[in-house]
Amino acid sequence: MRHRLLLLGGTGAALALARAIDATMPDLAMTTSLAGRTRDPVLPPGELRTGGFGGVDGLVRFIDERGITLLVNATHPFAATMSAHALEAQRETKVPLLRLLRPAWAKQPKDSWIPVPDVKGAADICRWLGKRIFLSLGAGDLAAFAGIAHPHFLVRLVDAPETMPLARYDLVTARGPFTLADERALIEQGGIDLIVTKNSGGAATYAKIEVARELGIPVVMIRRPEIALDPGSDMVESVEAALDWIADQTERSPRTGDRNATTGEKA
Ligand code: NAP
Repeated sequence: MRHRLLLLGGTGAALALARAIDATMPDLAMTTSLAGRTRDPVLPPGELRTGGFGGVDGLVRFIDERGITLLVNATHPFAATMSAHALEAQRETKVPLLRLLRPAWAKQPKDSWIPVPDVKGAADICRWLGKRIFLSLGAGDLAAFAGIAHPHFLVRLVDAPETMPLARYDLVTARGPFTLADERALIEQGGIDLIVTKNSGGAATYAKIEVARELGIPVVMIRRPEIALDPGSDMVESVEAALDWIADQTERSPRTGDRNATTGEKA
């Protein structure tokens, strides 16, 4: 029986994985799922679906109805809700789950980082530090900075939002990866004296961290949410390792029929 992979995507790593699967695993049926946060996403090969599943129940239903036999969670490191739902769905369906999570950025000796636990903690720092602040965040994070009137913000987003909750700001729309030269120009021309970012990891958005190091600019670094992993689920940090995991799983028979048809209970 043919394996069917559900790839929870929305990251560069998910796109790279989908392309690698498409190129090397012709027998694997693959559906990528996107949250639908960007208006014009780069489309992965294979089948695509967009938008929330409707919580854990909706995800479990999708897995059952579509006969999914493998689940890979390659969402953003801060996508804590989707990751928790994937774990719950794994517990219910027993479909093998892999978390593909790129390593977090590690502080270098010349970095000046202010670690904070969440976006609200970052906004608290901006109340007293920084006159021209580069917010390298998602549109959904900006509301936390709404009441902060004195600094001038530079906001970079993939798409212009419908409403902007900030008082004084410039908006740049751009999609990574970003080069060192481009980030240096943006930060120098903007007169930036504070940068706010999530610790997303990966190379595509790391250049701003290097520029901050060069120019001695402090970085408010939002720590990753902690996401527990079940002993039964696996985690890898690279696309290559994810491919190995999938190859290993596809050599086994798909786990179907785990559920008892008459009671709905797991067998
Ligand atoms: P989230 O908070 O974990 O997810 C919220 C809900 O969005 C989920 O419960 C799910 O809805 C839906 N969802 C998320 N990812 C999905 C996917 N791949 N396919 C289908 N539905 C999905 O994640 P988030 O809202 O995407 O983002 C959380 C944080 O990550 C934010 O700080 C954001 O800025 C950052 N981030 C996300 C992405 C991305 O592409 N997702 C990219 C860059 C940064 P249901 O419960 O209805 O299934």
